[in-house]
Amino acid sequence: MAFRFDNSWRRDLPGSYLDEVPDPAPAPVLLAFNAPLAAALGLDPAAVQDHAAAWFSGASLPPGAEPVALAYAGHQFGGFSPQLGDGRAHLLGEHLDPQGRRWDIQLKGSGRTPFSRGGDGKAAVGPMLREFLISEAMAAMGVPTTRSLAVVATGETIRRDGGMLPGAVLARVAASHIRVGSFQFWAARGDGDRLRALLDYTIARHFPELAPGDGLGLFDALAARQARLIAQWMGLGFVHGVMNTDNMALSGETIDYGPCAFMEAYAPGTVFSSIDRQGRYAYANQPLILGWNLARLAECLLPFFDADEDRALELANGRLQGIAGLYAAEWAVVMQAKLGLSAPDAALATGFLAAMEGQGVDWTLAFRRLAGATQDAGALRALFARPEALDDWLPRWRAALAPDAAARMAMANPAVIPRNHLVEEALGAATGGDLEPFRTLLAEVTRPFAPEAGRERFALPAPSGFGDYVTFCGT
Ligand code: AMP
Ligand code: MG
Repeated sequence: MAFRFDNSWRRDLPGSYLDEVPDPAPAPVLLAFNAPLAAALGLDPAAVQDHAAAWFSGASLPPGAEPVALAYAGHQFGGFSPQLGDGRAHLLGEHLDPQGRRWDIQLKGSGRTPFSRGGDGKAAVGPMLREFLISEAMAAMGVPTTRSLAVVATGETIRRDGGMLPGAVLARVAASHIRVGSFQFWAARGDGDRLRALLDYTIARHFPELAPGDGLGLFDALAARQARLIAQWMGLGFVHGVMNTDNMALSGETIDYGPCAFMEAYAPGTVFSSIDRQGRYAYANQPLILGWNLARLAECLLPFFDADEDRALELANGRLQGIAGLYAAEWAVVMQAKLGLSAPDAALATGFLAAMEGQGVDWTLAFRRLAGATQDAGALRALFARPEALDDWLPRWRAALAPDAAARMAMANPAVIPRNHLVEEALGAATGGDLEPFRTLLAEVTRPFAPEAGRERFALPAPSGFGDYVTFCGT
């Protein structure tokens, strides 16, 4: 089956998009194709793959596509832009899968739109393959995320940081592209009718159990999803890098993989993005930014919290004060699984983090080795510069373990994550035309919980010579 498009955004939300077509790629070449995802969407993978280079590069459009660029606003690093929008992306349409679920099919890197501001509307091969790799790793680790269907090299060369790079387009699949910034767009314009239409659209699409107009219900449901999501990120050592309000999805999916990376040595202040000089989006700040972004959404939804303004504010304040507790509860559940505990125990979890701090202990390896430490803590202790930091903690932890702790932990703690040095190696090779390291790494990161035996190279942190890792937003 090919795409079954039903483009409700166009139908239901006039004014929130522009009709824009992707640039046709001059010489498209398919670099990556996600056949399992195509099958999960109810598509015929072989048939789609035959057309993928053309359909997912703008060279031609799949039947039923009605491309648009979406309008949205957003706070970027705390500063508000009333108009951002898809400056290098085109929503081809919404595909209905055989279960009736609706999926946005979006091209990213597909050319300029009226929302491009100074940008060229394009993307390079490296960053698009990076989103493919990391989003698919996240999905395999059970984290809600947009998915990657294909990456196509366009045959164009684009300018980045003074150099020239091969261009590419990513075909992204998302439960939707509704962002906190989508609400901010209409709130900033004081357009209550359009805001209400977006609210009802979002409820129907993502929270159908709610009644139309139930802004408070939407807020609560999203806060729950986002708190769980950020707790999952924290459990994996994932640093998103650009938690701007335009990069927070109402579907609760992780979206926009730019300068993101996984922390290796545990350090709460870990930042990878070259543009995040203040550490606003540092690892340990992510739960705080969750609250900050939700506060921006609450501001937009105030008229739908209560007709009485004071009462609406009171409700909003109550909700925002609750976010920290909501997040803490989700984090305790994530850590319960990671530590193999019979019940959530935030103090025990915090104790392990305290033991790791300042010791250069690799986050992923430490949790993976913890499963073995139910019997023998030798391999775990070997990661620590001062293993005596574990002396008090280990017996307390052992006393709190669930009966089948080691097996549970093996399903909660990945052996293989996208390690920064391997990602760089794979993307560097791909940019030079060799896709083999990318394909190998993709195969490893998409079975994250399988034993490390025979693939130790993918389970170990960067060699010390790799140095501090810096990611770039130009992405
Ligand atoms: P991002 O940092 O990818 O979330 O993007 C933030 C905003 O910048 C969005 O409105 C994007 O569409 C826009 N943008 C990012 N890169 C480009 C580019 N190369 N050309 C045009 N717009 C871009
Ligand atoms: Mg974005």
